[in-house]
Amino acid sequence: MDPRRVVDTHGGAPARDADAARVGKSARGPVLYWMHREHRARDNWALLHAHAEAARLGVPLAVAWCLADSFLGAAIRQFGFLLRGMAETSRHLAAAGIPLVVLRGNPPQEVVRYARSVAASLVVTDFDVLRVKRAWLASAARGLAGFCPLREVDGRNVVPCRVASPKREYAARTLRPNIHRLLPEFLTSIPALPPAPATPWTLPVPEVDWAALRDGLPVDRSVGEVGSLPGIPDIVPGEDAARATLDDFIRTRLHRYHLRNDPNAGAVSGLSPYLHFGMLSAQRAALAAQAHAGAPDDCRASFLEELIMRRELADNFCLHAQDYDAVTCFPGWALATLDKHRRDPRPALYDEGQLAAARTADPLWNAAQTEMVLTGRMHGYLRMYWAKQILLWSPTPEDAMRTAVALNDRYFLDGRDSNGYTGIVWSMGGVHDRPWGERPVQGTIRSMTCNGARSKFDVGAYVRRMQALRGDAGEQGTSA
Ligand code: FAD
Repeated sequence: MDPRRVVDTHGGAPARDADAARVGKSARGPVLYWMHREHRARDNWALLHAHAEAARLGVPLAVAWCLADSFLGAAIRQFGFLLRGMAETSRHLAAAGIPLVVLRGNPPQEVVRYARSVAASLVVTDFDVLRVKRAWLASAARGLAGFCPLREVDGRNVVPCRVASPKREYAARTLRPNIHRLLPEFLTSIPALPPAPATPWTLPVPEVDWAALRDGLPVDRSVGEVGSLPGIPDIVPGEDAARATLDDFIRTRLHRYHLRNDPNAGAVSGLSPYLHFGMLSAQRAALAAQAHAGAPDDCRASFLEELIMRRELADNFCLHAQDYDAVTCFPGWALATLDKHRRDPRPALYDEGQLAAARTADPLWNAAQTEMVLTGRMHGYLRMYWAKQILLWSPTPEDAMRTAVALNDRYFLDGRDSNGYTGIVWSMGGVHDRPWGERPVQGTIRSMTCNGARSKFDVGAYVRRMQALRGDAGEQGTSA
């Protein structure tokens, strides 16, 4: 593995030789991999690094995973998806001779407590850019200071986020040259997980009843799991379903990816829930797309642009703009234009409840919101339209941001993701964009209209499809 993927959490610099030597000298107990973003046994750079370090030190290896009772307001929709996926990952790990230790409570505290209790030599963990995760890592680093090193491995980005750029990038065009220059070094094959560690784990590992964990979790159950609604197909979680979805997309839809802006075309991958929960490696998806000679070059290039460029730009943004979910992260020109139009009359005002229930005067927006509530996803083109209308229908940009983030994260399976925060601030606050023609309320923020949507796809067909879905889901579908 390229050592530039590994960062010691204290300084943000690549792990140094001195650190590696210190691990070697003080090696006593096992290597722990604290999994919290990349929920998979396959194609996982952090797990591969932990495996290699355990072998080098001649110590056992375990994966630690901590279930918190709450995480940024996630409902049973998101927790259920994660827990069902983790049940499968625990089986894959067991088959590879690696125990999964499930902890419960405040993640950094529990991981530190456990690492100390087993005299861990090293804790390896996932890179994440969200504020709460940066705080977890800082807290764990403090708790382990002087005891054992904590190393962060970027297994999310094809080109590791900190290697791609050390600063907040202005736009895709400023990050793109770096990514393209570095891709040949990083878009390489991913090794299989080696055979079971030579030094076996001998400490007790309690059995986990995943279904009981899911049933007993004290989280919001008003937003049900996707497959539990009548007439709405389940999105099966887990690594195997992620791979099957990837294979199906590559075989049957990648060659039609030029139709990706048409929500009726069924041309997009549907991979975002799997990528969000780390059930699929973006690098694996990129390699599969690259290798599929059956798809036209422009389709492959567009898919890789979304999967690598746009997705990695989102991590770059959130890492360097930790106010990623507030208007303060908007560029100066966007703040100025929104301020200038602060007192403009709004075409309509809707509160969060009316929006959640898809009760606006705009049938296209209502259909998109219905898709979100019922299926946990929404087509990418409509996500932009959806957010931009919330800006128009809110008393202030600050209210619009709060409402969009709340709805995005409550209903989407892939919510609470750097992609989501970046998508919202792109739509409402011109982040990574430029000024366009001036209009009421939104000023020079790029606008999207229903007429514009009509020129791209059959809006009526989409609205009818969502109305039918809502009819199928009955009461539960309309009570959001
Ligand atoms: P595909 O078109 O098949 O793309 C493949 C992958 O590329 C996606 O799974 C995703 O990981 C990445 N990708 C595609 N478009 C973007 C983009 N614009 N920015 C960053 N990465 C991208 N994405 C989330 O993962 N979670 C969210 O909560 C989320 N909320 C959004 C909110 C708004 C207002 C906007 C404008 C965008 C949001 N996105 C979010 C980004 C994007 O719309 C989704 O990732 C995409 O629609 C997922 O569908 P797909 O997997 O079929 O995409």
